[in-house]
Amino acid sequence: MAEGNVAEIEAILPDLVALRRDIHAHPELGFCEHRTAGRIADELRSLGIEVHEGIGTTGLVGVLKGKREGTRTLGLRADMDALPIDEQTNLPWASTHPGAFHGCGHDGHVAMLLGAARVLADDPDFAGTLHFIFQPAEEGQGGARVMIEEGLFERFPCDRVYALHNWPGLPAGTISTRPGAIMGAADKFRITLTGRGGHAAIPQDSPDAILASASLVQQLNTIVSRSVPPYASAVLSITQIHGGHAHNVIPAEVMVAGTVRTFDPAVQDRIEDRMRAMLKGVEASFEVVCALDYDRYYPATINDPAAAADALEVAGTVARAELAPEPAPTSEDFSFMLQQRPGAYIWLGQATGDHAAPLHNPHYDFNDSVMATGVRLHVALAKHWLA
Ligand SMILES: [Zn+2]
Ligand SMILES: [Zn+2]
Repeated sequence: MAEGNVAEIEAILPDLVALRRDIHAHPELGFCEHRTAGRIADELRSLGIEVHEGIGTTGLVGVLKGKREGTRTLGLRADMDALPIDEQTNLPWASTHPGAFHGCGHDGHVAMLLGAARVLADDPDFAGTLHFIFQPAEEGQGGARVMIEEGLFERFPCDRVYALHNWPGLPAGTISTRPGAIMGAADKFRITLTGRGGHAAIPQDSPDAILASASLVQQLNTIVSRSVPPYASAVLSITQIHGGHAHNVIPAEVMVAGTVRTFDPAVQDRIEDRMRAMLKGVEASFEVVCALDYDRYYPATINDPAAAADALEVAGTVARAELAPEPAPTSEDFSFMLQQRPGAYIWLGQATGDHAAPLHNPHYDFNDSVMATGVRLHVALAKHWLA
């Protein structure tokens, strides 16, 4: 089985690379992936795969039934969106859209999943139903959540879901995942401290939002070190302070903002609780009013242990498979799918000398030499779960 796939994938590889580079040259930001989704729909239809479009604006699902009877279902996900970055690679297939760039390799994810669709549609030697899920807006806008809200898993039942992400931190030819948390939860917060505003020479009449914010920044930086257990981990970074415009005016308002990253919902709760308590203390100490906007925009990506174990076993049949020693602090909206269905998020190593730039870097370049491995992994995951 594997040998046949290797030859077939080698044969379609030039097409997949050309498709990937075409998508790369025409990147589209979240929920605007109209051209990309159109190309994907055309490709799926040409393979005889049933296509359902417009799920979460530009999201789409391809449905392929196995030639053998079976009740199992599987979802394989690829994300389609680009980042709002100006590309600096000077490659022949570089972005032709200023301010948009496939700097996270989602063009490669699309091509690899379409490659698997081609192999599996050619010979659907499996039992059950396979759903190819192409989602919009992974980069911060929660396209996966929107697809779920629009009935993704009711319309296209999945007993299990897998997603593959290229990973420049791993060598090309290595596949890695882990049970439990693999990517962090991403929260953002924005605190507005409001005083009254007044003359800098008359401080007794103007609660000092600047001084209050200075104290608050110090206090917030104690949360991870003093309120999170040493065996857990978390990051709290304050990234913005805005306030004041003149040397002789105490400003009426100061804004403090930042991000929190965690891997455990209990730690996430603890940090938000401590932040709210500290704001009450700052209000009492400095006579300001604090307003907190705390947004948990992506939950932690938590792999199902059995699905992760299966993924590693299957990965070992197509490449070098490694148990990831620790999760990554970045985040991923496949987390919403994993809250609904058991599955796993899998890293596909792509680093070589020429492909050392990290994700989201203007010099990032998807490594086409790992594409065959990604296609084989998708195919093998489908054949394993839908055996
Ligand atoms: Zn990204
Ligand atoms: Zn990504």
